[in-house]
Formats: sequence, C-alpha cells, structure tokens
Amino acid sequence: MIRSFNPPVRTLMGPGPSDVSPRVLAAMARPTIGHLDPKFIQMMDEIKQLLKYAFQTENELTMPVSAPGSAGMEACFVNLVESGDKVIVCQNGVFGGRMKENVERFGGEAIMVQDEWGAPVDITKVKAALEANEGVKAVAFVHAETSTGVCSDAKAICALAREYGCLSIVDAVTSLGGSELRVDEWGIDAIYSGTQKCLSAPPGISPVSFSKRATDVIQSRKTPVPSWFLDKNLVMGYWGGGAKRAYHHTAPVNTLYALHEALVMLQDEGLENAWARHAKHHRALKAGLESMGLELLVDENCRLSQLNSVVIPEGVDDAAIRGQLLSDYSLEIGAGLGTLAGKTWRIGLMGSACTQRNVMLCLTALENALVAQGASVKTGVAGAAATAVYS
Ligand SMILES: *Cc1c(COP(=O)(O)O)cnc(C)c1O
Repeated sequence: MIRSFNPPVRTLMGPGPSDVSPRVLAAMARPTIGHLDPKFIQMMDEIKQLLKYAFQTENELTMPVSAPGSAGMEACFVNLVESGDKVIVCQNGVFGGRMKENVERFGGEAIMVQDEWGAPVDITKVKAALEANEGVKAVAFVHAETSTGVCSDAKAICALAREYGCLSIVDAVTSLGGSELRVDEWGIDAIYSGTQKCLSAPPGISPVSFSKRATDVIQSRKTPVPSWFLDKNLVMGYWGGGAKRAYHHTAPVNTLYALHEALVMLQDEGLENAWARHAKHHRALKAGLESMGLELLVDENCRLSQLNSVVIPEGVDDAAIRGQLLSDYSLEIGAGLGTLAGKTWRIGLMGSACTQRNVMLCLTALENALVAQGASVKTGVAGAAATAVYS
C-alpha cells in the first residue's frame, strides 16, 4: 500500500527552489475556489499590482504565467519572434543557450554573443553585433545567470538595445526580488521570472511583463503566435483588466494564493530592503568561505548575492560533500552546471533562505564535511569571520 508522501524538512540553499516560508505554505492550504470567482478575480488584480511593484513597472501586460520560469522564457520568445527575425542572444552560461533554442524553434535567427562562463555579458561585443547586423529585432540576455552566479549590466544592455531601435528580452528568474531591477527605468521590453528563487513561493509560476512597445509588436504580428497556451492576446482575456474574464485555462488557484502571500511579504519588507538583505548575507557568507581558504568563481564587481559559485578545492569529492550536507544537516546546495559541473558548488541565498541562521549553518556544515573528507581548509575561523560582518 502506498501511503501519504511526507517530505523531509530541508534547508534549501541551492539554485532554487528556495525555502518557502510557513506563512506562504499556510496561504497555499486555504480553500480552493473557482478561477472565475469574483473573490479570486480580486486576488488576481492584487497579484498584478504586486508584480508591478516587484518589477518596478507600470506595464499593463504584467501577469503570472501558469507554468515554471522556462514557460515565461518561452512566452517572451514565442510572442515576439516571427520567422526570419534576427535576435542577438548573449550567452554566458546555461540559460543563454536556452534562449538560442527558443529563437531558432520559432523560426528566428540567433546571432550569438558569447562570453566565458563566470564572466558578465560584454557590452562592447553586443554593440559590435548591433553594428554588424542590420534589422535586429531584439537583444536577449540573462540578468542573473544562475549557472555561474554572474550579474550582467541590464541597465546598460537595455539602453544600448533602445539606441539601436531593438527590443530587449530579459531573463530575471533569479534576479527578481534579490537584486536591483527596474523594468521601466531601464527600458526593459519583455521580462520573465520565476516564483521559486528570490520570491520564495512554490515553483510552477512565471511572472512576466511586456512594455507598450513589446505589446504593440505582439498585436501587429504577421502570423499568429504558434503557441495557443502562451499567446498573450488570448491570455489577456483572462488576466486582462475589468470584471469580465473569459475562461482561458484553469489557473493554479492555490499556487497563486502562495504567490500572492509571498508578494505581500516582499511589499511589507520593501523591495530595496530585500535587495539589501541579500547583499548583507552574501557578504557574511563570502567572508566565512574565504576565511576557510575557499574561493568564489565570480569577480566581486559582477557577483550575485543570491547565487554564490564556490570553486571546489583540488581533490575534494563534489558529490560526497553535497551528499553529506544533505544527510547530516538536511542542507541542500547546488552542483555546478554545464561546463562548471564538478568544478563549483552553487550556494543560494534566495528569498526566505537568505538569513543569518542559514549562513552560519552552511559555513559550519561545509567546514565539517570538508574536514571529514580530509580537505585542507582552515578550521574554526569561518563563524567569526561571518559574525564580524554582522556586528
Ligand atoms: C531557474 C531558471 C530558469 C528556469 O526556471 P524553471 O522554473 O526551472 O523553469 C530560467 N532562467 C534562469 C536564469 C533560472 O535561474
């Protein structure tokens, strides 16, 4: 007989999902109501309003896609890219590669701007690509590359795209709620995020936002959007304004309660305070790791607070350490991805998981696991180094 599933209680300090607070989990357990219930529609409007705040935008077309971050990515590309369109795709990690796939699957031509994994998007290369190619429709890039821990200069890249009359498409899955992000001020045209990173809501929803310019492009397409589910023209019948909503799909009602609660928490904390909290705990974690003799992969000037790539010391068994953290401390950290597999660990400090308690737990647990493996790290100093940042 199969019985109820009871997951263990973990501390989630990987690349996402991050710890979901009890307050958000409690919201999720509230009674399911109809997706066209007037009370539910009121809550949908509040979610849109809260998302506008999180994205720092007045964009009318701001809403959660009922599917994970990858669907938000696809929603941006499938609505904006038509056959023959040229899109500059900046790649400096895993997710830029997925953008290329999206452009090509919708019949576009991806003009690649490659940077090393661990480096930010080089804006001079983007400029060169814009100079070398006529009629580029959009510039696409990842703001916070979760595979490496790099933050690229979204403000500068979007300004450059505008200068050349192009749209900008921005992956903000890991940056939303964790790093400075200002959609309107920076002139971002299409942006998608996820709920399970710095918003600390359960996975499965992707907030998106489209500027007026992007919306005009979608509405004047020559061909219908090839995806029925992600076609913004159709989704707007359900998520658009006014009391009249038409059935498009059954919204994930309870998951949206959770997102609503997580966004209320973000509003209560204040967006800039949330950014500052991520930066503070990052500084403490970094101080602790470096005092042990561990090295971070990414340069300080483009390093994300919420995703810390740690170089695995020579001779240390990557999987054994992560296994020990999980079994002895119920602590999850992430493995390296793509070309960085086996070379780095990814320690997330995202949303509700971004706390002093978690920083201290992680430093202690990692030190003990490394010592158990016979790694030569400096012991007994990390706690004090991190504490010094807090005091
Ligand atoms: C996690 C992530 C995604 C994909 O989100 P899913 O919810 O896993 O589909 C896309 N881009 C970046 C930068 C991410 O970190």
